[in-house]
Amino acid sequence: MNAPRSAALTEADRLMTICNACRYCEGLCAVFPAMEMRRTFAAGDLNYLANLCHQCGACYSDCQYSPPHEFSVNIPATLAKLRNESYSVYAWPNVLSGLFARNGLFVTLAAALSVAAFIIGFVVWIDPAALFSRNAGDFYRLMPHNAMAGLFGAVALYCILAFVMSLTAFWRDIGGPQAAADLAGFCRALGDTFHLTYLHGGGGGCTSESDAPSPARRIFHHFTFYGFLFCFAATSVATVYHYAFGWHAPYPPTALPVVLGIIGGLGLLVGPLGLLVLQAHRDPSLTDAAHRGMNTVFIVMLFLTSLTGLLLLVLRDTGAMGMLLAVHLGVVLGLFLSLPYGKFVHGLYRFLALVKYAGERRHGNFVE
Ligand code: SF4
Ligand code: SF4
Repeated sequence: MNAPRSAALTEADRLMTICNACRYCEGLCAVFPAMEMRRTFAAGDLNYLANLCHQCGACYSDCQYSPPHEFSVNIPATLAKLRNESYSVYAWPNVLSGLFARNGLFVTLAAALSVAAFIIGFVVWIDPAALFSRNAGDFYRLMPHNAMAGLFGAVALYCILAFVMSLTAFWRDIGGPQAAADLAGFCRALGDTFHLTYLHGGGGGCTSESDAPSPARRIFHHFTFYGFLFCFAATSVATVYHYAFGWHAPYPPTALPVVLGIIGGLGLLVGPLGLLVLQAHRDPSLTDAAHRGMNTVFIVMLFLTSLTGLLLLVLRDTGAMGMLLAVHLGVVLGLFLSLPYGKFVHGLYRFLALVKYAGERRHGNFVE
């Protein structure tokens, strides 16, 4: 016996059945061509389609059946609800997804403050004077490198395990193994991810903030996405410097990890700030108000990570460095812990959906 469907699944099924008869929007994004490969929609199919959607709003403005029409077709809001629901459905361990979904802001901030307090307590216990003294940018005089690497390494490993488990469950449920893309399809999915191809809203951009299509959301997404990648690259290069070459932090301002970190940090200031402003002006009827909090937490935590990181760089030779380091590490750890259960996973799920989409296009029809 099939499990009962959620309200979002039932509504998405109804709307996809209407759209499949209409097909007016097939040129707008990947959702409609993927929908047309199906006659009926299992839960996995609907979660797949929901994660192909960028919530650009174009199919709402173009739709002759959107409210007040009695069909009440609202694809962006319905797929947003389903997409947010899918993060919880596939999350590992599942019990934590409910905790983050209900109390995302509280849990993330509590984790961040706890770690900051732990680090401050640790430094005070070892050498109270070190907390406010000038340490010439040497973070490891406050917290030994092995302690820092051990703490963040353990959290990173946990996140990787949680991602592998949830992405595997999602990939299986959407029927990914039956429609595997070849290398060309995989590269196409990668290209669509890096270009945010389907955030064009069929050409002009998003119409979710106003009726006039605008590229703003796509631009701020790019700032955020590439800012995150640059920061990740900065940490990776610094790790190679430390372990492979024995070059230990602090690095001069012209060193590669610092330059990458500054570029990434600026991206993570501009991008999240822009997305928050756009979110405030968004047409609420096109969004999923129930999960707005968790989405906001993720953007705010990215912004705070960048802000505290850049402040740490600018003030690393002053007496403020100790407190700033504790706050920055707390914010980063809070962000890490929330990654498997919040908005961050949308990028990973969307990439897998695009890989499946590329595979389906290669096979030419719906693969059972
Ligand atoms: S969103 Fe509206 S116009 Fe577009 S395919 Fe669906 S029913 Fe047709
Ligand atoms: S909101 Fe945009 S991305 Fe989502 S289905 Fe409609 S046109 Fe496609």
